[in-house]
This record gives sequence, structure tokens and C-alpha cells, in this order.
Amino acid sequence: MAKYKLEYIWLDGYEPVPNLRGKTQIKEFKSFPKLEELPMWGFDGSSTRQAEGHSSDCMLKPVAVFPDSTKKNGVLVMCEVMMPDGKTPHRTNARATILDDPDAWFGFEQEYFLYKDGAPLGFPKGGGFPPPQGKYYTGVGYDAVGCIAREIVDTHLDLCLDAGINHEGINAEVAKGQWEFQIFGKGSKNAADQMWMARYILMRLCEKYGVDVNFHCKPLGADVDWNGSGMHSNFSTKHMREVGGKKYFEALMAAFDKYKNEHIAVYGPDNHMRLTGLHETQSIDKFNYGIANRGASVRVPHSFVNADYKGYLEDRRPNSQGDPYKIASRILQTVATVPLK
Ligand code: ADP
Ligand code: MN
Ligand code: MN
Ligand code: MN
Repeated sequence: MAKYKLEYIWLDGYEPVPNLRGKTQIKEFKSFPKLEELPMWGFDGSSTRQAEGHSSDCMLKPVAVFPDSTKKNGVLVMCEVMMPDGKTPHRTNARATILDDPDAWFGFEQEYFLYKDGAPLGFPKGGGFPPPQGKYYTGVGYDAVGCIAREIVDTHLDLCLDAGINHEGINAEVAKGQWEFQIFGKGSKNAADQMWMARYILMRLCEKYGVDVNFHCKPLGADVDWNGSGMHSNFSTKHMREVGGKKYFEALMAAFDKYKNEHIAVYGPDNHMRLTGLHETQSIDKFNYGIANRGASVRVPHSFVNADYKGYLEDRRPNSQGDPYKIASRILQTVATVPLK
């Protein structure tokens, strides 16, 4: 038997964006614990905006397990928040109610800024701006990316791979101090669990550098010529990959147009600051699609058209603070309105 450190992680009740929370319990297991072996646990919901003070217990139900290579016998446990009966999902528990489909594949491109002392990493001390955007995207050298950012993003990648998270890549982004990683997963819950855990691992890693992760979609404001952060959501269903066709594609895009407001409602807060029609975005109140068009709401990859309208599409509207559970579910909800024949 060995003592394992189980870090139970959940989303709190703050709005519009929940915070990640975590606390540790120690339990003995013969070997690395399986999901079924992990017990429910409780926490004080009155401290996380999930309960009133007089009856404040909420329950944590483990739903996904990841090895934590930063600790001896470390385990990261993604949890859903349940009512005290342990069976009823808490109102803040989006995961419990979303649509899922193991044959729906999602690729999330998470953009974010690393912040130190109230400004993006590499911005001049005492205020002001570094030279304008241009050489930061995929940049190399101290001038472009600074000195600790690379160590952070590379370590983050290793920790996520150790955890079994399906990272597909990382890159320095358009603004100074801005980065991106991509995660691919099959099924909305699976892909979104991985994204939340990757966010958690990044935030925790940054603590020791005195750095914060700023997930806001326009942290420098809408009035300056500095990029915002998105979480482009690439998706494909079995039908899109195997049958596809121009007619189905056009019907799908008509449905996306019809439900554009419902999509924007779960694509992250303050998105009007980011979806302006500038900086490779479409305006928030319009829906369009375009082949290889990075100024469209949905970008259609060349590969999709070349394969007779089969493959995946990129919804560019979700932002960096969006909840991947809700985003994936909304996409599936709209897809479900389109007849397959
Ligand atoms: P770009 O920056 O050019 O938009 P990225 O390489 O950052 O592209 O991201 C592409 C994303 O598309 C990746 O997250 C990848 O996992 C995802 N992807 C690739 N194929 C599929 C597919 N068939 N279904 C869903 N997502 C996919
Ligand atoms: Mn990308
Ligand atoms: Mn990007
Ligand atoms: Mn993209």
C-alpha cells in the first residue's frame, strides 16, 4: 500500500466565469487509483458561492483522474459538484447536463496571457507598451518572448503529457506575453475535462514564478491595437468526417446562423470586446463562414473542401474564458437540429 495525494478539483459558483478550486486528501491504495476507487468528498459551499452559510455542505463526485508528476504519488481528480444527497447535480455543475457524443471530436486552441505585476510578461516596468505586434507570434529570442515564458510553457506541456492530457501543440501568440496550447479529445466531456485540467496545471505551475495566467478575452482593452484571446473550437462529428457533402455543410451553417445568439451566450464573457471584425475576428452580431478565412465566425479548412466537404470546422468565436463543457454542448445541440439526409 502507498499513500496517494488526491487533489480534488472543481469549478466554483462565481459568475460569469467559475474559478478552479482544489483541496487534497490522502488515501492508501495498492497502485495508482482508478476512478471507481475514488470516494465522494465534501466541501464548504458557502466559501465558493455554492451554498448558504446555514447548510453549506456540497459534495465532490470524481469524474476523471490524471497522474500528477509534480508530486510523489500525486493524483489530479476532476470532480462534479453535487447536492448533499450526492445524486442531484448542483446548479453550477454544467458538466452533468451537457450533450455528449463519443464520436464528436473537439480540438480547443487555448490562448492566454502570462501576467506579472499587473501587465503582460515582457511589458516595460512602470507602464507603457513594448514595440507593436509583429514579431511576437511564433517568435524566438529574449526580445520576442522574454526569459521565463518559454520555461513555463515547456514545463506546462511536459506536465500535461505526464498527466495523459492530449496536447497537440503550443505556440507564442500575436501579442507579447500571449501564448496558446491546443488540446484534442473525443467526446465533449473528455475534451473539456482535459482543457480544465490543463488550465489548472498551468495556473498552479505559474504560482512559483510569481506569474498569473490572464484568461480574459481582451485584457489590454478594446481600444488598443493588441490582440485578444480566443479558444477556437474545432469540431467534427462522425457524419461530418465520413459522409459530409456540400448540402449538409450548408444546412449546418444555416443552423449555426440561426442559433448565433445562443452560441455567443456560452462562448465566454466580454466577447463584444474581442469580436469586433478586427484582429482576425468577425463582429459579435454577425455570422459567416469562409474557406481559410480567419476573419470569419467559422473557418472552413482547405482540407474540408478538398475532401468534398468532409472533416472538421473551426468555430473561431469562443473566447479564452469560455467553459469548454458549455461550448462543446452548444455545438452538439445545433448540430442535432440538422437532419442527416
Ligand atoms: P490554427 O491555429 O491554424 O487555427 P491549430 O493547429 O492551432 O490551428 O489547431 C487546429 C485544431 O484542430 C487542433 O486543436 C486539432 O486538434 C483540431 N482538429 C484537427 N482535426 C480535427 C478533427 N477531425 N475534429 C476536431 N478537431 C480537429
Ligand atoms: Mn492555433
Ligand atoms: Mn491562436
Ligand atoms: Mn485557430
